[in-house]
Amino acid sequence: FNHELQRSEKMEIISQLAASVAHEVRNPLQVTRGFLQLMGDKSVQEKDKRFLHMAIQELDRASSIITDFLTFAKPQLEDVTLLCITEELSQIEAMMSPLATMQGAKIELEVEPNLYAMGNTAKFKQALINMVKNSLEATNRGNGWIQIIARVEDNDVVVCIADNGEGIEEEALAKLGEPYFTNKSKGTGLGLMVTFRIIEVMQGTLRFRSQKGVGTEAIIRLPSAAADSQVNEKQKRTAEA
Ligand code: ADP
Ligand code: MG
Repeated sequence: FNHELQRSEKMEIISQLAASVAHEVRNPLQVTRGFLQLMGDKSVQEKDKRFLHMAIQELDRASSIITDFLTFAKPQLEDVTLLCITEELSQIEAMMSPLATMQGAKIELEVEPNLYAMGNTAKFKQALINMVKNSLEATNRGNGWIQIIARVEDNDVVVCIADNGEGIEEEALAKLGEPYFTNKSKGTGLGLMVTFRIIEVMQGTLRFRSQKGVGTEAIIRLPSAAADSQVNEKQKRTAEA
């Protein structure tokens, strides 16, 4: 058991390190992309334009990998707190709406007040943003809608993300969350792997239902945590300390 503890501490250090590397690497990638784009806008030869285009695509691929893994993960100690899921979801909607609007899609939020669960705010956002991004990518033929519904059901906080996108084939449903499983030419196949892992760490479950050509529904169930009981727990611990 002792051995296991050490291993998980090491994993924690590795994941913090990965997060800080990702943050540091993101900036030079963006700067390089900007310069390549500037060069491409100048009157360069057709042949060189193709190379520039390929270079930009590869940089975008590197950025996607970082985004799917760690956009919101911060290089600090894993911080599990009482999350107001209601508030988290409304922040996620605010973050993703501009991207949705750009693609002619709409995000609808239908969330009960005062939904609480234990988790890490950065990781939870990462998990959901990966899902909303997939929904947006599945509806990019225009007039897409994504509905985020959340409510309490049998002591669980249930979050549904539904879209009217292209849907998922039955064989593919079973493969969701496998590393590198993707149907996209520029996909990483890492987004849902990260999402499943985060929900699992929160003691929750994630299920997908889908019909090809109709849409997809993802259902997250998390153990509900009551706001006041948590505060009492914390007060008790501070009192004891
Ligand atoms: P990526 O987005 O890089 O392909 P993900 O792990 O995020 O990797 O998703 C894996 C695959 O699952 C996608 O390529 C897509 O085929 C499928 N998928 C996930 N969510 C949806 C969705 N809402 N609608 C349709 N297909 C989806
Ligand atoms: Mg994805």
